[in-house]
Amino acid sequence: MIPLDEAQALVLRACVPLSPVELSPADALGCVLAASAVAQVDVPPFANSAMDGYALRAVDVRGAPVTLDVVGRVLAGATLGAEVGPRQAARIMTGAPLPPGADAVCMVERTRVEDGATGCRVVIEAPVEPGENVRGPGGDVHAGEVVLDVGVEVGPTQLAALISAGCTALAVHPRPRVGVISTGDELVDPGHPLGPAQIYDSNRPMLVALVAEAGCTAVDLGRSGDDEESLAARIDGALGRVDVLVLSGGVSVGDMDVVRMVLDRLGGAATHWLQIAIRPARPFSFTVLSGPDRPVPVFGLPGNPVSSAVSFELLVRPSLRVIGGHRVTGRPRLVARAAEPLRRSPDGKTHFVRVQLAPDAPDAPGAGGGGDGGGETLAWAARPCPGQGSHQIRSMGLADGLAVLADGDGVEVGEAVDVIVTNASLAAAFVGAP
Ligand code: AMP
Ligand code: MG
Repeated sequence: MIPLDEAQALVLRACVPLSPVELSPADALGCVLAASAVAQVDVPPFANSAMDGYALRAVDVRGAPVTLDVVGRVLAGATLGAEVGPRQAARIMTGAPLPPGADAVCMVERTRVEDGATGCRVVIEAPVEPGENVRGPGGDVHAGEVVLDVGVEVGPTQLAALISAGCTALAVHPRPRVGVISTGDELVDPGHPLGPAQIYDSNRPMLVALVAEAGCTAVDLGRSGDDEESLAARIDGALGRVDVLVLSGGVSVGDMDVVRMVLDRLGGAATHWLQIAIRPARPFSFTVLSGPDRPVPVFGLPGNPVSSAVSFELLVRPSLRVIGGHRVTGRPRLVARAAEPLRRSPDGKTHFVRVQLAPDAPDAPGAGGGGDGGGETLAWAARPCPGQGSHQIRSMGLADGLAVLADGDGVEVGEAVDVIVTNASLAAAFVGAP
């Protein structure tokens, strides 16, 4: 058995960010910038009004209240087509360009319209400073300035910043294309009746979804029976279409552990058959196959559904994040209070226990804010999910995270325990360390 960190180091050594490509901002959503993005235009591109009000010359209204002649109206998306002269004003809407001559905007709430025989006039009730309520060109970003630095992930608001700055082609690490193949003669696709000795292929849809959640493009490459030739052909056909391959099942020492046989053949001496000192998910295989364009890392995960999910979390997900160029490669972690004992016995392995997280009750033993004085203040309580067998995927479905139990006797009620937060919606609530 090898320690988990050695196994992680081994796979990460073979993973490098994909070479940059140029994509439009919309296509780059979810990708990481491989070069800083430089503004092509000033943002905003022209001086415009921050308010609905009147564009005027500040010098004219020093002695407010004063009455000015209204020479026109300028709407967002239009220009006035005239100059605002001394003792004149133009009605202006938010985002409309400041007309020439004007240097400030008085908000409409501080004005009063006076319709007289000589046309429209406005009473400006309060003085304004030059530049007041005017958004100058480049006030957000100047053309030529870096909008977003290398390493930033393009999310919805980054997209807006890049588009407003006129960036049309971004150098990004492309989203890794990750092929998923499940293996097993006993497997049936969802929606079909189960025959004798059959089970649903739940790993493939799970892995496809985990791949997508990790920010990659999942390529569902289907399922192979426990038959060497068909799996080898499926892998071979995929090497030109994907950057990474994830296989489920067949990595132990069963008679039909076909992944083992096929990778031994295709990967040869480069294939690692690991027994990792963790529970669940001890067996694991890794190799790098040569694809037509580039080397393709191949992960062989155990078939037991919880083991598959845990291997993915601990070994595949960080690798995919590295390949995608992400700076944050891990899930958030937090320290929770054990709401129930998390017992285990010494066996030389690190155990990963599925737990649910809940805000901690302040009066619970060892809880933050409790009256027992001292100790760490913990905001979350962790409770083990029922059914911790590696075949019991429901427990993973119930879990918010994996409690990390070092070799030993486990954790008593009230003690602190480290939790990897796998529930993505809950994880978003933490400012977690990578
Ligand atoms: P294996 O790693 O192929 O020896 O499979 C270990 C256990 O996981 C067996 O009980 C399999 O039936 C089960 N299993 C394998 N692949 C899948 C899958 N894709 N979906 C659900 N269970 C699976
Ligand atoms: Mg199998």
